[in-house]
This record gives sequence, C-alpha cells and structure tokens, in this order.
Amino acid sequence: MLVTKFGGTSVGDSSSFLNVVKIVELAYSRSPDGVLVVLSAMSGVTNLLLTGANQALNNDLNGSNATIDQIRHKHETAITELFADSEAKSRLNLILDGYLNELSILYQGISYLGELSAKSLDNIAKFGELLSSNIFFELLLKHGLKAGYLDIRDVLITDSDFSKANPIMEEINNRVKDSLIPRFKLTPIIVTQGFIASTLNKATTTLGRGGSDYSAAIMGLALAAQAIEIWTDVDGMMSCDPRIVPEAKVIDEVSFEEASELAYFGAKVLHPLTIRPAVDNNIPVKILNSKNPNHKGTTISNKIPQVSDKSNIRAIAFKKGITAIFVSSPKMLMAYGFLAKVFAVFEKYKTSIDLISTSEVSVALTIDNKTLLNDIFNDLSQLAKITHKDNLAIVTVVGQYFRNQSGTCGQVFETLKDINILMISGGASDINLSFVVNETDVIECVKKLHQKFFD
Ligand code: ADP
Ligand code: ASP
Ligand code: MG
Repeated sequence: MLVTKFGGTSVGDSSSFLNVVKIVELAYSRSPDGVLVVLSAMSGVTNLLLTGANQALNNDLNGSNATIDQIRHKHETAITELFADSEAKSRLNLILDGYLNELSILYQGISYLGELSAKSLDNIAKFGELLSSNIFFELLLKHGLKAGYLDIRDVLITDSDFSKANPIMEEINNRVKDSLIPRFKLTPIIVTQGFIASTLNKATTTLGRGGSDYSAAIMGLALAAQAIEIWTDVDGMMSCDPRIVPEAKVIDEVSFEEASELAYFGAKVLHPLTIRPAVDNNIPVKILNSKNPNHKGTTISNKIPQVSDKSNIRAIAFKKGITAIFVSSPKMLMAYGFLAKVFAVFEKYKTSIDLISTSEVSVALTIDNKTLLNDIFNDLSQLAKITHKDNLAIVTVVGQYFRNQSGTCGQVFETLKDINILMISGGASDINLSFVVNETDVIECVKKLHQKFFD
C-alpha cells in the first residue's frame, strides 16, 4: 500500500493534473494492492477561500463575490481544458456550482452576523480540496484507471480543535480497517482530500495550513503503508529554501529527527507534524518533484545519514514572525520553581514556546503565535518584569554531532559577525543550533551561512 500526496502546485492547472495522472499510474504499477492519492486544493485556492471570508467579515460582499468568481474561473478553466465537452465536464460543473452556491451562502452569513469563527473558517476552507479531488477522480476515470473517490471526512476523525485539529487515531484505524481497506479490492486507486477532516459529530475540521502532508502521514500510518510520498514542486528537501538561495542542494537522505527540526523551524516543504505518525511506525517519507518525477528526491527515514567529511552542517531553515519575550526577576536568583510558573502561563494559554535561553535572573523565550499575547503578558507581569520584541526571525542550523565536534558554533557566528544576534539556543539536541535575529537581517544571514557551508 502506498500513500501519495500532491500539493497545490502539483494540481495548479490542467497540465499539472495530467502530470499527476502519469505519476499515479506508475505508483499503481509499483503498488498494485493499493494507492491512496491525497490531494491539496489547486494552488492559491485555500488563500482565496479565506480571503473571501475576511472580505465578508468586513461587509465587502462585492469583494467576496469577486473572489468566488476567481475560484470559479480557475476550476472552470481546468475542467474545460481537461474534459472538453464530455459528460464528466457537466458533472464537474454541477459539483462546482453546488459548492460555490454553498460558499456564497456562507459568506453572506458571515457578513450578516459579523462573526467568523475557526469552525466557520474550516467549513469554508474545505471547498478547495473537495473540488480538486473531484476533478482528479474524474480524470483518472477518463484515463481508464480503476479509481474510487473517498470523502476523507468519513475516515479521518479529529477532535474539535478547529483550524488545527488533532487526529483520533483509534477511531481512524477502525474506520480504515472496516470501510477503507476493503474498497481497495474493487478500486485499487482511491482519490481523497488532504487538509480536511471531521469531528465525530460530522463538523468539518482542518489540520492547519499545509496540513495535507499531515493527512497523508496519518493515512499512511492507519494503512501501514510501505511509504508516504509527498509530491511537490522542488526536487526534495534542500539545504535551504530554494526561493531564497537558488543554489540550495537536494539532501538525498535525512533522518526523521533532522527533518522534524527543519520542518518545525520553517522548511515549508513539509508540515512539521507529518513526521510523527511516520516515526511511530517506521514508515519512510519521500519528498519528490511532480515536475521532475525522475529525480530520486529525499528519503526521510530512521537511518542516520553519513555526513560528508567537509562539513557536519546539513541544512539551514528560518521562520519569520517571531516574538521574543524577556522575563526578568531578581526573585529568580537562587530560587526554584520560578521557571515552572513562567511555563504554566504558556500552558494556560496553549501557546507553544520555540526557543528559550536563561540567565540567573532572566529568561528569554520566543513564540510564533501571538493570538493571546496580551493575556500572556498580563499573567507574566504578576511574576516578573516583562519586555518583548516583535518582528524577529529564528534561524536554525541543522547538522550532526554538534555536541562532540568543536568549531561549529565558531564558524556559524564568525560568518555572522556583522549581524545582531538577539538570542541563542543550542546544545538541547545534537543536531540543532538556533538563534534569533531581526526579521530584516534574516535573508542576509541565511545566504551568508549557505555560502559558507555549501558553496
Ligand atoms: P505544496 O503545494 O507541494 O504543499 P509547499 O509550497 O507547501 O508545496 O512546499 C514546497 C515549497 O517549500 C518549495 O517550493 C520551497 O520553496 C519551499 N521550501 C522551504 N524550505 C525548503 C527546503 N529546505 N527544501 C525544499 N523546499 C523548501
Ligand atoms: N490547501 C491547504 C493549504 O493551502 C492544505 C495544503 O495544501 O496542504 O494550506
Ligand atoms: Mg505544503
């Protein structure tokens, strides 16, 4: 059993859809007992759906109607180019009309109520994946493949943490066993949606932006797949974001641990939670390029890859939009329990901390979710003096043997001697050195490091 996931750029237009048909056909020949095809929305569509919702919230129904027109145009064009005047075209246009009518009613509701909850957002975001998967399903049928269509919400059950829902694995496993696995006997290729899911009460949830990778991994685990393939628009996981550093190199093999550090600290090519289900069952995850399918891509597995003798640095990632909070209290001096109180505040507001560094009377920490910043400040102010700084970025250098090999920190910071570094966190793991810089410096910083370690 193979799980293949295609991101938005792999289904961005009619010719990309046709590429994916070829890839799926080959995947089926490699895995004749079954291929689950997990699709993202056509590129840009999730953004459009959410933009329309915000336009409606601001009472701009002209704007949200124009957004619906853009969504309609993108899908209609693909449908017409792929299906000419066939019955499939009529079927798909009916589906498109139905979904877009529903969307229009939802936008009107938001505008009248002046309210937009995470639950409503998920209900709106669902249309992108529902549309792309319907189009692709019809396309496989047109190419004579034995394909089935699955509404993933019948199987992928989550809690009701809307916009970042968590899978309920026991429920998913039962449904996969009882209702999905038997279907592969009839239709060995099954097309479904990434990103969206459902609560037990049938409310639509989503797994967070970029969550289709996570859907693929959850389904890979439930199906005990031989591999999870993430098909995207680059040749694999690279030594840096290729949009920033065009000379970035593909990394052939990375360990789960390295990949999770990179994904968590900004390598957008993979949703950070993807690795977890794969690790749980030791299922290799591959990152492959749908525009260059012959490239062998990156394999993420339990194996610790051999590093070259030139450098133990493997990749550089970065994450913008970071806020640092500086907590300072003389009460911390030689006292115990202070940090526990600080962390309890973040637990109370369900805000995760990325980096920390401490001195005897101060602790600095970073967060990327600022939704509850005011509440966090209020509570922390009861404990200590608080200051903060916005518009920062985390740079993460991932490599190997950081604890045992001298010189790594020296080389990193020597390279950045002209850049203001606000906070450093290293040594917590053997493979990660992270630090905080001003957002305005991050691109220069990443380019300099890449040049130093990879050129
Ligand atoms: P998809 O639509 O396939 O899900 P994404 O846009 O989510 O694609 O992820 C792919 C993009 O991730 C690439 O186009 C690339 O610009 C970006 N990216 C960021 N960091 C890295 C990295 N280290 N390696 C590869 N790609 C990266
Ligand atoms: N379509 C969703 C998004 O744009 C999920 C995904 O593509 O992974 O976030
Ligand atoms: Mg993605």
